Amino acid sequence: MSDESGRWIPAYLGLGSNLENPVAQVRQALNELDSLADTRLVAVSPLYSNPPMGPQDQPDYVNAVAGVLTRKSPEGLLAQMQILEQRLGRVRSAGDRWGPRIIDLDLLVYGNVQLSIPGLNVPHPGISERNFVLFPLRDIAPTLSVPGQGIVCDLALRSEEAGLRQI
Ligand code: ATP
Ligand code: CA
Ligand code: CA
Repeated sequence: MSDESGRWIPAYLGLGSNLENPVAQVRQALNELDSLADTRLVAVSPLYSNPPMGPQDQPDYVNAVAGVLTRKSPEGLLAQMQILEQRLGRVRSAGDRWGPRIIDLDLLVYGNVQLSIPGLNVPHPGISERNFVLFPLRDIAPTLSVPGQGIVCDLALRSEEAGLRQI
């Protein structure tokens, strides 16, 4: 395919779910990540439960972070992730940002790439403010440098545990 560079790039993905048995949804998404073409699952954090961000009238979330090696470009990987979200039953509608969802897959970090194009910001701009990303990311990649944001363990030290609980 045209978006394969041939090199395996380490990337980190955030997973979240708060509908229809979120633990099972996150586990299934992790399984499916390993089956994506040109992408291999190499690390999985523990699962965490966390109160919702944004609108509070929705169930708690289950979150995790996965480490992959990928030969896809950042755009190609995000496209694969969005197809997987749809396959797992996510329905997108206007204005549902931070609303309840069966599965959410965010591209957190892609090698040392910093990219800002329509529909894709890498690293994900929310990483350093989100304990439900930083804590599981620290579990699998404490010394990772998030380009433009800092080292994961330093960022996590500045983050409150608050309602986040390892499952
Ligand atoms: P947030 O991105 O703040 O966690 P969200 O996950 O609820 O919010 P979505 O509704 O899932 O947001 O996605 C909104 C748009 O974000 C998508 O259409 C996608 O193109 C865009 N986007 C930009 N950067 C990224 C990224 N790094 N990972 C995933 N989606 C991204
Ligand atoms: Ca998200
Ligand atoms: Ca998302």
